[in-house]
Amino acid sequence: MPQYDMILLTPQEAAGADILMHTAGSPLKQGGGDETHRCGRCKTKLLVSVAHADAHDVVVRCGKCGSLNTEPHHHHH
Ligand SMILES: [Zn+2]
Repeated sequence: MPQYDMILLTPQEAAGADILMHTAGSPLKQGGGDETHRCGRCKTKLLVSVAHADAHDVVVRCGKCGSLNTEPHHHHH
């Protein structure tokens, strides 16, 4: 199962994005695939066992440390 650390965004970089709010203690989304994505700062698991499409281009605010994270493998437009 591949596991990725997400890339941190500044609030300026995330401006205008649809930000998903993670809550500490449980993944924002779980199931449907085999990719796990962790907060790039505190390593909290934000997306667990999801399909790549579920992580593609999302912006997630970590409920533990408040960092804004995005998925790092989206440079193939
Ligand atoms: Zn975090």
